[in-house]
Amino acid sequence: MEKIYLYNTLAHKKEEFIPIKEGKLGMYCCGPTVYNYQHIGNLRTYIFEDLLKRMFLYNGYKVNHIVNITDVGHLTSDEDEGEDKMEVGASREGKTVWELAEYYTDIFIKDTIRLNILQPDKWTKATDHIPEQIGLIKCLEAKGFTYITSDGVYFDTSKINNYGELAQLDISGLKPGHRIELSEEKKNITDFSLWKFSPKDKKRQMEWESTWGTGFPGWHIECSAMAMKYLGNHFDVHCGGIDHIPGHHTNEIAQSEACTGEKFVNYWLHGAFLEEESGKMSKSKGEFLTVQALVDKGYDPLDYRYMCLGTNYGKRLLFSWENLDAAKSAYTRLKNRVIEFKKQTAEHIESTETPNHKETIEGYKQQFNEAVNDDLNISSGLAVLWDVVKNELLPAKSRLELLYDFDNVLGLGLKEVEEKKEDNIPEEIMKLVEERTAAKKAKDFKRADEIRAKIKEMGYEIVDKKDGVEVKKSS
Ligand code: AMP
Ligand code: ZN
Repeated sequence: MEKIYLYNTLAHKKEEFIPIKEGKLGMYCCGPTVYNYQHIGNLRTYIFEDLLKRMFLYNGYKVNHIVNITDVGHLTSDEDEGEDKMEVGASREGKTVWELAEYYTDIFIKDTIRLNILQPDKWTKATDHIPEQIGLIKCLEAKGFTYITSDGVYFDTSKINNYGELAQLDISGLKPGHRIELSEEKKNITDFSLWKFSPKDKKRQMEWESTWGTGFPGWHIECSAMAMKYLGNHFDVHCGGIDHIPGHHTNEIAQSEACTGEKFVNYWLHGAFLEEESGKMSKSKGEFLTVQALVDKGYDPLDYRYMCLGTNYGKRLLFSWENLDAAKSAYTRLKNRVIEFKKQTAEHIESTETPNHKETIEGYKQQFNEAVNDDLNISSGLAVLWDVVKNELLPAKSRLELLYDFDNVLGLGLKEVEEKKEDNIPEEIMKLVEERTAAKKAKDFKRADEIRAKIKEMGYEIVDKKDGVEVKKSS
């Protein structure tokens, strides 16, 4: 197997990847809190994790990939304070928390599919794993790592000596944040909740019985409990966005290792943020972009994926419409070349491969593999792909095979690229066609006819077919 190098946040440097068991690895990625849409910033992190997984698969590894769905217990402040994000979301939208979770989980998973993200071996919901979380807290309690306050069960971070290693936290320099009364019972500023009690005066929609009282789990405990259940006490790779380093992941390490006495994870990888001119894209700001918003503006979700490929996952990426347009146009050019190569291959236009070509092909493969194995240097991999596209000396069939091979990592859906009948139809016409379809669906046939007439005026025709519509230029 080729060597793989990854920047390991825990080691604070790039390291060679050595799996625990030869030829396979376990990989846990922190998933969404399903109280709202995941914005395209969140999705940048899942694209990075997908590239990582695809790179391992490309190198011949078997990957056991787990992603959680946080549907309980994540408070509006990560410091165990404020309200539960799920309960707040539910009252905002007039849904139960269960309905809210189902609604946003569904949209999130559909978005990952639209972005060509390989589905994990298992999506694990926090609410399906309450006994496992209670079990882990009991283990910590039995070993003396917990204490109880008036609002919950807390982990005592002073009981372990390497707390904060991941984030290189300077604990003595930490200042208390804005705290509310209850958390003043915390013994150390870095202590965090494992179990929170339900308020005495209010019934929560999501709450469970436990030996400590009715309540719900803290946010961090779910990931430790589910990761260990599906991947074992000690596994290979754990990922998330950089915001998870000082709190969530630091706490996951503390509680997991305190219970098992073993090292939790060998390689920690973190994706940098998608940012806007005004700063990081975030849900708390209220305005953010979703995959659907991009589609509504006429973009293919994979235009966005292509945009993400150009910047290493560890570097911040600035979102702008100009960047997205540039990605769209490069990706469209790539698809057009793929269509051309497909045609030439199908028509057997060219001569057969010569041994000389074999060497060139192997050279390209080697370059691509080295690039993606070097801490996921996807932009260099993409540059190799373009070299292949532009190499007119190489037969189309060979170029196509190389592109398909590289696409196992890039995930741009190149095999599925087809010449579409409506390829040259202007976007405004396609928008009208969509509007007409929606009007027909709503049985507003008057409106549908008006739109058809408008499209005709603009020089295009709609032909209704059994499985959709065909749009063409009027003859
Ligand atoms: P959340 O639903 O807030 O737990 O976030 C889901 C994932 O998206 C986490 O791994 C976060 O670290 C990540 N994330 C949040 N904001 C951004 C952003 N602007 N760019 C990239 N990743 C983000
Ligand atoms: Zn997590």
